[in-house]
This record gives sequence, structure tokens and C-alpha cells, in this order.
Amino acid sequence: MAITDKIYVKNHRQLVSQIERSFPKGAFSGATMDILYQGEGLEKLDEATRDRVLDFAEDFLDCDCEASPHCGCPERKFVRYLLELREQGLGQQAIVDVMSDEYMLYAYPGDMLSFLDDSVRTLEAAERLAEVDGDPAAADRMRALREALVR
Ligand SMILES: [Zn+2]
Repeated sequence: MAITDKIYVKNHRQLVSQIERSFPKGAFSGATMDILYQGEGLEKLDEATRDRVLDFAEDFLDCDCEASPHCGCPERKFVRYLLELREQGLGQQAIVDVMSDEYMLYAYPGDMLSFLDDSVRTLEAAERLAEVDGDPAAADRMRALREALVR
């Protein structure tokens, strides 16, 4: 399961009762993106919540794909966002705290740690592959990315 399947909307029950429509807890569930992030329920949310919900929609659900937001872009952007926080030196708990402040989302720190570890391993594998392929420039790029994550 991808990390984006383990990102949840905070105060889920409260939000469901505010917009008077049920949606799944997972932030990247198709129905959540339709009902919470793009639906007409937005104006029923209290202001603080609405701001964060809108921020999330603007930052991650803003592509022009025909299938948007069901095109994979929101998930890819969010993964990039997590890795950028990691590159800034944040640990798994701090990353969860930041996404909670910014977008009212949460994840379990253990899941976040696994995701970060997997990302490093994926880069290691890509680095080795590039070396085998005789592409030192690509290998260097992967190494730099990996080192940014484990710093
Ligand atoms: Zn897209």
C-alpha cells in the first residue's frame, strides 16, 4: 500500500457532520476528493477547517488532467511534499505534525517511517541500476537525492 493510502483526514467525524455527507477517512480516496475537496459541502465547514481543506485542494488537486483529481497527480505531488519535508531535516513525527497543521491530515508515524525507509531503498536500487547501466550522471543524481533524505 502506498503512503497516500495511509493519509487520513483529521476530525473526520466532525467534518462529515458539518458537510452532512459521508466520505471515507482516507484523504486520497476517490470519494473523499470528490465530496470533501471538490464538493459543494465546502461552504458548510467552519472557517479554520475550510481554509485547510482549500489549501490542500489548491496545492495538490490543481492539475489540468481530464481525469483530475483521479489522475495520480495529487498522490505524486503529496509524496514529493513529504520528501521535501524530509530533506529539510524533519523526522517522521515532525512530518506528521506539519501536515496536520497545514492540511488537517494525519498519518501514523510508523507508516511515515516505513515510507521514508522505502524511499531511500528505492533510490539505492536506482543508483545501483544506473551504475550497472554505465550512467554515472544518473547514479550521482540518485545518490544526491538519497543523501538529502538520510542527512
Ligand atoms: Zn493530473
